[in-house]
Amino acid sequence: MSKKMIECRNVVYKYEDSNENKLRFAVDNVSLDIYSGEFVVVLGRNGSGKSTIAKHMNALLIPAEGKVYVDEMDTSLPENTWNIRNKAGMVFQNPDNQIVATIVEEDVAFGPENLGIDPKEIRQRVDNSLKRVNMYEYRKHAPHLLSGGQKQRVAIAGVLAMRPDCIIFDEPTAMLDPSGRKEVVKTIKELNKKYGITIILITHYMEEAVEADRIVVMDSGKKIIEGSPRKIFSNVETMKKIGLDVPQVTELSYELQKEGIDINSDILTIDEMVNALCQLK
Ligand code: ADP
Ligand code: MG
Repeated sequence: MSKKMIECRNVVYKYEDSNENKLRFAVDNVSLDIYSGEFVVVLGRNGSGKSTIAKHMNALLIPAEGKVYVDEMDTSLPENTWNIRNKAGMVFQNPDNQIVATIVEEDVAFGPENLGIDPKEIRQRVDNSLKRVNMYEYRKHAPHLLSGGQKQRVAIAGVLAMRPDCIIFDEPTAMLDPSGRKEVVKTIKELNKKYGITIILITHYMEEAVEADRIVVMDSGKKIIEGSPRKIFSNVETMKKIGLDVPQVTELSYELQKEGIDINSDILTIDEMVNALCQLK
């Protein structure tokens, strides 16, 4: 087993409920390990605590109870915050809130400049990061003129320029059109497969979840199931009960099986479905 990148131990976090003047659990006793090199997808309906647990993974939030370690560094110790943020970067839903400069390459340079890194090294990091997200040819462009998918890739380059080992993506494709979504998902997968960056991806799109190494499902602040995509999505009824979809082909195989057709109910991709249908007598 490779080493632990992030360890959440019995994490509890509550927000003040302004109406009732009491504390509400946003994350309720969650334990979760993320290993170096993994691609983990977190699913759960709105308000299930996904963003709250994600923000614990780079010390944007500190647990009220329990512990979070990033590369063995305790997030509750202020002296670790700096190193933790460099180790684990975060990308959010709205690229417009993450882009600060008026030229793409200046935006990507912003993070390393704040670290006081040598200008020659910054130049290398910026070029390299833009190439990794396939945006190098846009380096002199104005970010606000780019498409949503391109802006989000610039935001990712900005995080890459900090040389993180791990990136947490909180619904990075939620505001994008289908082609922007595809570009960004392809980029995220490449960061994992080609460059070995550990990925935690929060998403509503089941097609994005199918290719994860592991899926974690949250509901009401709790981790309710985790496992391989095949294991998770074969629980069609559990997923529906908590208001989540399964991939369309998985649902189709489940419905066909219910109708008495001899087909596996854990089909994940169109290719698998075609194979299974061709083998029917
Ligand atoms: P998700 O990302 O899965 O939609 P969140 O982690 O954002 O869920 O929210 C979990 C719970 O915490 C929800 O009930 C939400 O209303 C509440 N919550 C989130 N952020 C705040 C906040 N800043 N103040 C008060 N309550 C919050
Ligand atoms: Mg959220």
